[in-house]
Amino acid sequence: MPTPGLDGYVEPWRKPEHDDLAELARTFFTKEVLPHAARLEQQGHPDREHYRRAGELGLLGLSVPEEYGGGGGDFTHEATLLHEQTLAGEGSLGIAVHSGIVTGYLNDYGSEEQKRRWLPGLVSGELVGAIGMTEPDGGSDVQAIRTRAIRDGDDYVVNGSKTFITNGILADLLVLAVKTDTSARAHGISMLVCELTGDPAGFRRGRRIEKIGLHANDTAELFFDDFRVPAANLLGTEGSGFIQMMRQLPQERLVIGVGAVAAMQRAVELATAYAKERVAFGKPLIGHQNTRMVLAEVATRTRVSRAFLDDCIQRHARGELDVATAAMAKLYLTEGQCEVVDRCLQIFGGYGYTTEYPIAKMYADARVQKIYGGTNEIMKELISRVL
Ligand SMILES: Cc1cc2nc3c(=O)[nH]c(=O)nc-3n(C[C@H](O)[C@H](O)[C@H](O)COP(=O)(O)OP(=O)(O)OC[C@H]3O[C@@H](n4cnc5c(N)ncnc54)[C@H](O)[C@@H]3O)c2cc1C
Repeated sequence: MPTPGLDGYVEPWRKPEHDDLAELARTFFTKEVLPHAARLEQQGHPDREHYRRAGELGLLGLSVPEEYGGGGGDFTHEATLLHEQTLAGEGSLGIAVHSGIVTGYLNDYGSEEQKRRWLPGLVSGELVGAIGMTEPDGGSDVQAIRTRAIRDGDDYVVNGSKTFITNGILADLLVLAVKTDTSARAHGISMLVCELTGDPAGFRRGRRIEKIGLHANDTAELFFDDFRVPAANLLGTEGSGFIQMMRQLPQERLVIGVGAVAAMQRAVELATAYAKERVAFGKPLIGHQNTRMVLAEVATRTRVSRAFLDDCIQRHARGELDVATAAMAKLYLTEGQCEVVDRCLQIFGGYGYTTEYPIAKMYADARVQKIYGGTNEIMKELISRVL
């Protein structure tokens, strides 16, 4: 069913294969994962089995080349999957990080041997991926990270800690930002791939961080205490980590934008349906002019956002998404998500504030979109640099 206000809108990049993928993803999320939603929220992390099942269905690593087991598609396929996940209301699986970020680092900077070693496991769901940049002392100033990796023979010895790491409780493979030259800022950063299965010596997972939303997805602190990582796990060359991150962050921000627009669509759908059912002063809410005006405004905001997002997706598929435009997408779409969800919640009255109604969960889940992936203040800094 199309979102009210988006009738007849077809993403300009959409082909029949995206429709098939969307249907497969929708069925998986609604029939196989959502029935466990309450339990997953309680346990605070997804089921490993659901990653494996997603892999079995071919839903992980959609843009990973086929020679490494992937779907051989591009970002439009990843976007289709992530859109369906949010639209379905599924929030446990950290696919946005696993497929939307981690496979990108390996694919773009991994050696042939590294790709063959790790990509098939991420695609099958045997391995769960995570990305570790943020540290307790600060996330916005990435150049100031303090986790260090000192070369010792054939290994790096890693000391330090990371926080707020999505998928951190289950992660088997962590792309970790470290300082290999502690005297330098940007040029001292390198990316190391850490194999975490079985919690090897020198590595410890901290507590699962309790959040106000996204309860079914794990966020954790990670500690490294003389943790040895083979030097062969370095991505690219020493000192190229900052450039690698800057090149990957536009996609990360677009991934966030995809979720934002899907959430707006879902909020408009839920609020419109509710406004047609709920009666106040002898007529459905939608019979009151203010309700119609609010719905008209959020539907318009959603449609304009959709068009901007699709422009960004097309630019990215052509390899032309620049840092400032990606920052604009992250800023505008997440601000829009928070506003649209808030206004839609209002239509539900008191019920909108109860956990019985999905709009309440969407409200809590939305807030972090303005924070992670680089805060929206940092997005404005990035945009201002091209003015
Ligand atoms: C649920 C969740 C999941 C996350 N997942 C991951 C993950 O998987 N991997 C990962 O590495 N990180 C992850 N993060 C971390 C996230 O990216 C950081 O929280 C974020 O980058 C901000 O860093 P900080 O929290 O240290 O805030 P700070 O950097 O301390 O910033 C605090 C405030 O100051 C503002 N500020 C800072 N510098 C400036 C400036 N120059 N100008 C104006 N304002 C400024 C910020 O905008 C913010 O409002 C996650 C966070 C959350 C909450």
